[in-house]
Formats: sequence, C-alpha cells, structure tokens
Amino acid sequence: MKAAVLNQINKPLEIENLIQEDPKHGEVKIKVNYAGICASDLHIMKGTASLPIPAVLGHEGSGTVVEVGPNVTNLKPGDKCIMSFVSNCGHCTYCRTGNPNLCSENLRIGSKLFDNTFRLKKQNNKEVYQMGKIGLFSEYSVCPQQACYPIPDEISLETAALIGCCATTGIGAIVNHPNATTGLSIAIFGIGGVGISAIQGAKLLNSSKIIAVDIDNKKLQFSKKFGATHTINAKEERPISKILDLTNGEGVDMALDTFGSNDTTESTLSCIRRGGDAVIVGLASEGEFAKVDMVSMVRKQLTISGSYYGTTSSHETFRKIVNASINNQLDLEKLVTEKFPLKKINQAFENLQNGKIVGRGILEL
Ligand SMILES: [Zn+2]
Ligand SMILES: [Zn+2]
Repeated sequence: MKAAVLNQINKPLEIENLIQEDPKHGEVKIKVNYAGICASDLHIMKGTASLPIPAVLGHEGSGTVVEVGPNVTNLKPGDKCIMSFVSNCGHCTYCRTGNPNLCSENLRIGSKLFDNTFRLKKQNNKEVYQMGKIGLFSEYSVCPQQACYPIPDEISLETAALIGCCATTGIGAIVNHPNATTGLSIAIFGIGGVGISAIQGAKLLNSSKIIAVDIDNKKLQFSKKFGATHTINAKEERPISKILDLTNGEGVDMALDTFGSNDTTESTLSCIRRGGDAVIVGLASEGEFAKVDMVSMVRKQLTISGSYYGTTSSHETFRKIVNASINNQLDLEKLVTEKFPLKKINQAFENLQNGKIVGRGILEL
C-alpha cells in the first residue's frame, strides 16, 4: 500500500510501500479519493508544528469505505465520506458539552488509533503514525468510524475533501461564531483555502462588507468570485487605515486571521470596531506570540478568540456545509484549482509554500 511518509523534518516526503493492518473494533478501511494540500501539513514538514515521525500526513480529504471492522454501526462498504481529522471519543467533557472538535481523548492519543496502537508499519516493522488518526497521503486509510461522515451523491468527492478541513475551518469560524448574525462587516486576512471559505461563510450570513486582505493580487482577484466586496493588497496599501476608511472610521464588526502570524493577528485587533471580535483561525508557528494593546482591549471592549475546526462540532458543520452546497449557496467546487498525483506531492507543497497555488490544490489518489 503506497503512502507518502515523513521520515525527517525539512526533507521531502518519501513514497513508500507500507504494511497496513485490517480495521479493528469500531474502525473502517477507506480508499482515499482526494487529499488537500494544507499549510498545517507543511508546518509539520518544516518542524514549526510537532507530530511524532515517521508519519503519514494528510488531514483534509474524502474517501470511500471498502471494509468495516467489528461493531461498526453507521457505515457500510461503498459509503462516500468526508474525513474528519478529529475523531471524537464521545464521552469526554468536551464531547458531552458540544465541542467534540476539542475531544481530550483524541488529543491524548494523538496520531495512533484509539486503542493506542498503530495500523501502519514499514517493511522493517517500524510503526508509522497517522496524522489525525487518518493520514490521507495514502492509497488507503484504516481509521476510527467517527472519522467518516457519509455524504449524499449530490456532493462530489472533490468538494467533500475540502469540507474535511479548509471549508469547515473557514465557514465554521464565521457561521458558528456566537456573535454571527446577518449584515456584519467582516475583514478576512489571508486568502488561501481557509480565507476563501471564510468569505463564503460571510456571504452565507449576508454580510454587508466582506473585505479580503492578502499580499497577492491573483488571490485577491480570485476572492471576488466568491463574494469579497473589497480587496486590499497589504503590500501596496495600509490595511488598517483602508479598513477604517471603508467603515466610516469605526472598524469592522469582525476580523479573521486565517493566515496565522503575529502581524496578521495584531492587524485583526487593530481593525475591529469598539466591541468587535477578532478571531484567530490560521495556525502560526509554535512559539509565536502576538502583542496585545491592553488599554485598547479594555476601552474598546474588544474580544479575541481562537477557532479550531469550525468552533463547535465539526460533524455538525459538515452537515450545514453539505446542505448549503446542495442548495447552491456555496461554491466549493471552484475552489479546487490544481490536482496532483501522489508522486508529485513534494511539488504540490513547494507550490503551496511559494504562494503559487491560488485556491486549493488537492491530491488525486
Ligand atoms: Zn488543514
Ligand atoms: Zn471526547
């Protein structure tokens, strides 16, 4: 079974033939159909996010069930699925209080399966981790049944793949925000896959202004197709003063940092109105800190929060996105702009790192 393996930080992924065990209690085997090229994988490859190695990365994707293990109740062979990179346990405090995206058992066990063992090993018997208990840069994945969210035929497997990470992260950060309501003015920093998804989330809410901020004119141009009402190139203009100009000097109701850096996070706090919300969605490098103007936080009564995997239950966000896609309220199909075979995976990440991918690149497995 072929998979792209991360054996060393800052080295290319290696395509290897791995040995895969059959699904155990509550697990399924899926044929991976598509896997997205996401910055979170890149962080691990560069060592700016930690994951034990050797590992098969890939946490955004779609698959088709080919085999079910004992006691699998909600899936059967042939089911097409969105893959979730947080398999919730169902009985921790977070799972029970509506935040299975923060499941503590999933976090504790990490990149092994729930029984604390591996399903992948090398020919020399060395065990291999699976990112998010799925590891989708692989022809097949053996994973918990909770990782699979079955979808109707109206949703293509390409779209399903994006719902597995960027669409849910971006759309969920907006529509599931406690202050989400119609007519908001929203600024979105970073126009990659998550940023474009956030724009679509803002459009779903009938936002009055959707301001896209990036340093790449091609990405800004692309964002207009999805509902951006204004665009700002942060290399050519000062984003904060431009956003204040666009909002009568007040600032936007909500600003999202989908890129993840101290600079972009500090910008979200500077461009929101009194009482506004800044939301950090993109992952910065581990150990990075943003400065907070404490007096402004108090006098302007600002709120800053983080949003992980759509803020609430990812599976519930999947359901909302699937329904909105079927009703033609979202256009995730157009977000896929490049497809790569597994053997070109390193090229795909190089393109992502160099900002060459406008929209989302996906692997076709
Ligand atoms: Zn991702
Ligand atoms: Zn849990």
